[in-house]
Amino acid sequence: HIEQKALLYVDGVNVSFDGFKALNNLSLIMKPGEMQAIIGPNGAGKTTMMDVITGKIRPDSGTVLFRDDIDLTRYDEAAIAKLGIGRKFQKPSVIESLTIFENLELALSGQRGVFQSLFFKLTADQAGRIDEIMALVKLEDRRDTLAGSLSHGQKQWLEIGMLLIQDPDVLLIDEPAAGMTDAETARTAELFRDLAKKYSLVVVEHDMEFIEALDCRVTVLHEGSVLAEGSLAQVKANQKVVEVYLGR
Ligand code: ADP
Repeated sequence: HIEQKALLYVDGVNVSFDGFKALNNLSLIMKPGEMQAIIGPNGAGKTTMMDVITGKIRPDSGTVLFRDDIDLTRYDEAAIAKLGIGRKFQKPSVIESLTIFENLELALSGQRGVFQSLFFKLTADQAGRIDEIMALVKLEDRRDTLAGSLSHGQKQWLEIGMLLIQDPDVLLIDEPAAGMTDAETARTAELFRDLAKKYSLVVVEHDMEFIEALDCRVTVLHEGSVLAEGSLAQVKANQKVVEVYLGR
């Protein structure tokens, strides 16, 4: 039998800011094709963990491997994105004066730089790919709508589409449900369960109803390390987790 490779392997990672330990001997493994939610109180180290994986912060010590043998601590942010690790920040950064199709077109041509993008002509294949992504993020009926007139939730979906079009293997997503209506939150959970069939997803989130709807493995961070791991029901029943969330 063939050992399944770890997609992301984080081992003994430490990050300090002026002597304050934001990550304290953090270790976790993500398997390919898995959706994983990261929760934890404010200051637990969730953002710092994402920053380390995506090369925004270099850890003081520890190991961060992608696909078992790529040492991510040796790459910068741009190189890590090219390796297939896409990150979506909380605030959408779509271009409001362009249509949905044009935003996706720009994301597709993005790696060529702005000057080359001006002369970028889509092939039929690429146009088809944009249509596919629009359908995937449930925006196919809004092809020519200006991004500026979309709801907050629709902007988030467009931005996820802009990541997907670059064909990543892993998506790291920061608080997708923040600011969404209940209907948008439910639709986003449905979208993520769909995406999880094809991509590996790491979702940092506070909204417990959303996490419940994701129906995935949950990792609880606290004071820079993993406090508990399991299904949402399992971590909610964990006494240490209860104490941390009730602040005792
Ligand atoms: P979370 O995302 O779980 O809320 P963070 O990773 O943002 O937690 O932060 C972990 C801890 O590290 C917090 O106490 C925060 O104040 C501190 N921290 C994060 N970034 C910096 C920084 N650039 N300089 C100093 N302290 C920081």
